[in-house]
Amino acid sequence: MLIRGAEIDGRAPLDVRISGAGIAQIGAALARERGEPELDARGGALLPGLHDHHLHLHALAAAHSSIACGPPAVTSEPQLAAALRAAAATGSGWLRGVAYHESVAGPLDRARLDTWVADRPLRMQHRSGALWIVNSAGVRELGLAPGPEAETGRLFRADAWLRERLGGERPDLARVGAQLASFGVTGATDASASNDAAALRHLCAAVESGALPQQLLVLGEPGLPEPASPRVARGAVKALLDEPRLPDFDDLCARIRSAHAERRGFAVHCVTRAQGLFAAAALREAGAQRGDRLEHASVAPPELVELAAELGLTVVTQPNFVAERGDDYRRDVERDDRPWLYRARGWLAAGVPLGAGSDAPYGSPDPWRGIAAAVRRASASGAPLGPDEALPPEQALALYTAPLCDPGGPARRVAVGAPADLCLLDRPWRDARERLSSADVRATWCAGRLVFARDG
Ligand SMILES: [Zn+2]
Repeated sequence: MLIRGAEIDGRAPLDVRISGAGIAQIGAALARERGEPELDARGGALLPGLHDHHLHLHALAAAHSSIACGPPAVTSEPQLAAALRAAAATGSGWLRGVAYHESVAGPLDRARLDTWVADRPLRMQHRSGALWIVNSAGVRELGLAPGPEAETGRLFRADAWLRERLGGERPDLARVGAQLASFGVTGATDASASNDAAALRHLCAAVESGALPQQLLVLGEPGLPEPASPRVARGAVKALLDEPRLPDFDDLCARIRSAHAERRGFAVHCVTRAQGLFAAAALREAGAQRGDRLEHASVAPPELVELAAELGLTVVTQPNFVAERGDDYRRDVERDDRPWLYRARGWLAAGVPLGAGSDAPYGSPDPWRGIAAAVRRASASGAPLGPDEALPPEQALALYTAPLCDPGGPARRVAVGAPADLCLLDRPWRDARERLSSADVRATWCAGRLVFARDG
């Protein structure tokens, strides 16, 4: 395919020839080859396809057939009750709610859920992804043994157990692949700690069938085998830290060492100040290596930034949460922690490699929302959150254009010989940088294949 008249790194008009999976030629007024399809870019910026460095593909696919139970769709108890009752009125079997947050109706348990849905099993996931709450019909259906979990219906970090109990079905990923393509996303890192050999097989099959056109990096359990698809790479061992039950320090150090023995990095989920410092201390003790990552590092005081820089850790952050959850943070997060929430400039100034991911479905899968939030640093209501951490649009974009295996590394370029993983905007960058919107994405190529085109 020949892309006519695009803007590349501020230079226009340039033609780009895609041949096979790569970029074969770039130049002014390239001669069209016989039968070659042509697309007129009309001066739109041609960017390297975006990489989402942290999301959860299976959960994102499942969310498409779930009931939204939290903001922005649902913000009050009457709205939640109405949404649940409406969903319960049609179909049969399990109801699956997602994105619940206490700002809607306070802490939930089995008895509260029963007041809304009593005659069908219901499971509702907390927005953090760490907690499921189940109603009485659900507790019976799962065969929960008597104990605190059956009593309260609150199941903490129980995804793998739940999947097994519910029959292990994994959702189809085609809709997720198409949705990401519409945002210009050509690569994604699945950061689920529960990724095992079966999950990896399912992801590889989706990539090989074309359902998922993106290239993937898969983090997950220790012992994860080498992927069966050349478009899928195996990444770090992922660990979750959940206060108040921080793991034993020596045990965490041992897990880090054994990940390194597998020639894999170690990625730690840390969202509080204590978790971040605990994770960095363990990485220092075990001997941090290139490829070790802090996921989220949501609260990053100067001592954590210093330690991460000293250890050469990579940080993968979620600027979209500044916009999506900023108003909650301003209410719920301690004042001392607020300046250090989802930092960007502070990490970069310290020389820490910084990449970004959506954490979808726990955040919006649209990376342009994250790019815009990294620039504007404002909550949904417009309140500023860490304005000193704001980045210029070019640096915010670069959080999403590094190689999947090297978030925070040098941004990929649109250049001859590079893979044709591309995102074409419908306007030049000088206009797009003022908007930073996925509405401006006009076409997306993954490995040379046109996987999204607006207006046909
Ligand atoms: Zn995550």
